[in-house]
Amino acid sequence: MASQEIETLTAALSRLPGLGPRSARRAVLWLIKRRETALVQLLHALEAVQHALVECDVCGNIDTANPCGICSDARRDARQLCVVEEVADLWALDRARLFTGKYHVLGGRLSALEGVRPEDLAIDTLLQRASSGIDEVVLAMNATLEGQTTAHYIAERLEGCPVRITQLAHGLPVGGELDYLDEGTLAQALRARRPVS
Ligand SMILES: [Zn+2]
Repeated sequence: MASQEIETLTAALSRLPGLGPRSARRAVLWLIKRRETALVQLLHALEAVQHALVECDVCGNIDTANPCGICSDARRDARQLCVVEEVADLWALDRARLFTGKYHVLGGRLSALEGVRPEDLAIDTLLQRASSGIDEVVLAMNATLEGQTTAHYIAERLEGCPVRITQLAHGLPVGGELDYLDEGTLAQALRARRPVS
């Protein structure tokens, strides 16, 4: 029977994406054995995240400043807007360093199964942004069924806006999630983006 403290930490960790109760318990034991080298580091890192990081009111990115470093970077092309599902996708695309415009994070994808509706995503703010000073909206949704459904929905909603709508080229593996792709594949998909039909 583990102590209450260990149970509480295990329960908290097992709620993380990709971690079940068993791997959470393994992680807890691993941390306890490495109190000085890993546990203390993790504590400090968590504290820093809690105090320093905020969500950007403009694009939804997570950064130490609000507006974030990307939104306030004057060297970036403010007429190009790349729409992604999650912050992790923004980071993945930005690591590839090919897109020089700004971003918009939806905060998820439409899903009948998970009950995610348009009003649950940052679509209204996207329409607002797209209707002033934007030339091109790049839909960089995941190549999953839900990602593509979301892209089509947004393309329809953007119809009234005087913007060019493009999306990442196929060549993204079917079922592929941006965050897991290597930078070469991602770069190729971005370069070969095409108008939404
Ligand atoms: Zn931002």
